[in-house]
Amino acid sequence: MAAAASGAFAARSIPEIRALLTGKQVSAREIAEDAFARIDELDGSVHAFLEVTRDLGLKQADAIDAAIAAGHADELGPLAGVPIGFKDNMNLTGTHTTCASKMLENYVSPYTATCVERALAAGGIPVGKLNMDEFAFGSSTESSAFGPTKNPWDENHVPGGSSGGSAAAVIAGMATVSLGSDTGGSIRQPGSFCGAVAVKPTYGVVSRYGVVAFGSSLDQVGPFARSVEDAALTLNAICGHDARDCTSQPVTTDFTANLNEGVSGMRIGIVPQFMNAEGLSSEVKAKIEAAASKLEGLGANLVEVELPNAQAAMSAYYVLGPCEAFSNLARFDSVRYGYCAPGHKDLGGQYEESRAVGFGPEARRRIMLGSYLLSSGVYDKYYYPAQQVRTLITEDYQRAYEHCDVILAPVAPRTAFKLGEISDPTSMYLTDMFTISINIAGNGGMNVPLGLGADTHLPVGAQLIAPAFKDESMFRAAAALESVFGKAPVAPAFAPTAAAGKEA
Ligand code: GLN
Repeated sequence: MAAAASGAFAARSIPEIRALLTGKQVSAREIAEDAFARIDELDGSVHAFLEVTRDLGLKQADAIDAAIAAGHADELGPLAGVPIGFKDNMNLTGTHTTCASKMLENYVSPYTATCVERALAAGGIPVGKLNMDEFAFGSSTESSAFGPTKNPWDENHVPGGSSGGSAAAVIAGMATVSLGSDTGGSIRQPGSFCGAVAVKPTYGVVSRYGVVAFGSSLDQVGPFARSVEDAALTLNAICGHDARDCTSQPVTTDFTANLNEGVSGMRIGIVPQFMNAEGLSSEVKAKIEAAASKLEGLGANLVEVELPNAQAAMSAYYVLGPCEAFSNLARFDSVRYGYCAPGHKDLGGQYEESRAVGFGPEARRRIMLGSYLLSSGVYDKYYYPAQQVRTLITEDYQRAYEHCDVILAPVAPRTAFKLGEISDPTSMYLTDMFTISINIAGNGGMNVPLGLGADTHLPVGAQLIAPAFKDESMFRAAAALESVFGKAPVAPAFAPTAAAGKEA
């Protein structure tokens, strides 16, 4: 059949792509070419991609077509023919993995991260590596050394961060799904700003092997998608134990299993402290309240739960996160890895200049903070108490889940802000006020799009927070919310034309 116009597959779901492929209505190569045409067309303005993996993508597509031609259509992996992008802190052999930093500008992956390997083994078509805040430090993708990503809903606004490229690529229809990483909110917050389903699973559900580490006890990989089912299918493909990451767990959950169960009888926890938090905008608050009453209308019971220590999460995070980052980033020393400033005869000078030039301001700030916090005399005052706070917050969540099955909360206090609008670090950190305690406790959380806010007309999302290793409960509630608020659309400026849609 004739090649479809760019965008023909932009609004497709994973099950639709599968049906088109196995029904031989379209080839995997046509899907891949369509995705690359769309990237060529749109990414000049969105800038979600740091590298486009055309050759790898077409090769994978041809392998899928060959399998179908050989009569093996029923053996196709669960992501067969699905265009998928990867945050640029995930290694994929032969591609640059820059973490959006000058430090790693020329680093080419010699191996592939487990999450990427599994997505490709499931048949995903790799379309490219996605922009992010440098080393995942940030909430806007503005700290990328290669320029910011734009929010597909409005190019004057940020897409959120740090996985801003992963969210924008999916919402501009340049990938069906993507992977991001979340240390304090970096999947959920850009999901909320761009209007994507965005999942940070329980710590340990997805292997971190091959994902450049920020805070090893907090980092977790998860999917972005335009539907809850697509996110669940993607998580199914990448989850589970990996001998190369000792913190990964033998998770074999089917995250799609109870998407159709409804929420009748489900207990939904509401945290008054979150709903009355200073800084929560009225349009976000109104949406979360609407989501709560819709869930109640579908038969769920709303219960108030307390997380008394959650207000200390931000302070604990900005101790633990920089300490872990300081230690993880020590390897980028211009000798083992990273940018090497030329012309130095002494090693000390080479280290100093390479790190001063290779790292941007936010990375340097975190490294200095971590170095200070872990120094003798200071460690006992900050690091140790932060670990104690961590235990208290974890226990708060455990107690809350004695009274509810899942918690409903805001993701971000407001909708996407303008590029350049927030320049002081503390205000930027505060955009994660509702996401950080979940990483501290280690449980799963996800963004579910609720449509546009009444005032800013930009996407608003609800956060569903699950007990540890009960991520399926948040998927269940998410599917119910999606049935009311609708699936995430491709942003209107980039919506495929009806004609292009029909051609597929
Ligand atoms: N915005 C938070 C930070 O800058 C979280 C980042 C993340 O989750 N990677 O630390």
